Amino acid sequence: MATIIDGKKISTEIKDELKEQVKILKEKNIEVCLCVIQVGADPASTIYVNNKKKACEYVGIKSLSYELGEDTSQDELLELINKLNKQNDVHGILVQLPLPKHIDEDKIIDAISPNKDVDGFHPQSVGRLSIGKKGFVSCTPAGIVQLLKRYNISMEGKECVVVGRSNIVGKPMAMLMLRENATVTVCHSRTKNLSEVTRRADILIVAIGKPKFITNEHVKEGAVVIDVGMHRNENKKLCGDVDYDEVIDKVSAITPVPGGVGPMTIAMLMYNCVESALM
Ligand code: NAP
Repeated sequence: MATIIDGKKISTEIKDELKEQVKILKEKNIEVCLCVIQVGADPASTIYVNNKKKACEYVGIKSLSYELGEDTSQDELLELINKLNKQNDVHGILVQLPLPKHIDEDKIIDAISPNKDVDGFHPQSVGRLSIGKKGFVSCTPAGIVQLLKRYNISMEGKECVVVGRSNIVGKPMAMLMLRENATVTVCHSRTKNLSEVTRRADILIVAIGKPKFITNEHVKEGAVVIDVGMHRNENKKLCGDVDYDEVIDKVSAITPVPGGVGPMTIAMLMYNCVESALM
């Protein structure tokens, strides 16, 4: 029987641990504070932003929210970020992506102080991760490492295959698995014979963005499968990049969608905010 990795339970566990740390910081007159900036009113972004606010409330983190109009200029946004960078009582700055087309996302990410880059997207955070230095780590891959550790799934010496090479999931995931001493292979859309490569994986991490793309032929017997994908099918039901029903009898452990990787992302955002306040 496969172990179903319960991201909801682990994320609550982490948030409860953080609650305690936030309380201790409050006793020292430090109020952990996250600033969330949303430009425009993209409905999906609004849901993400609200979930972040709810998590802050649960953990006891103060959340400041800036809801800016769609027509906000890049300079106005940069000005706000510069102001927040200088505020000592702000520990984390998060700009909800995607931004409207007239704003250059890279310029915005670069403007956030690396000391407040709780999303872990700033080039300095990415660089520190790749040379094994302490720094903020992108929340989704950091959450996956926590899931594996808290389920006592060792990464050391294991064949780990990451499918997807995005800057926010695939690449930092590969770096983190290297840090954990796994042997790491990264696949992408130009990988030849994908199923041959993925079948080597003791731990298979999938972040492709294509519903139920990974099937039985891609998975080795007894593999651990981590599904980052998040989609709504024709019946509005959530599903991942992995065909869960097809692989469930073959794997030793798997993350479900929903309730696997998803809840971990916000828990690790809360973790990064607390780390920032501790710095
Ligand atoms: P992305 O930026 O679109 O990257 C997708 C990656 O998959 C790319 O590297 C692409 O390769 C690769 N790919 C596409 N088709 C492929 C194929 N046929 N074979 C092998 N590789 C293929 O996506 P992302 O931001 O990493 O997100 C991936 C999924 O995770 C999405 O469903 C997203 O919604 C979900 N997600 C969930 C969370 C969460 O908190 N649960 C967080 C982030 C993302 P190329 O580089 O060659 O194009």
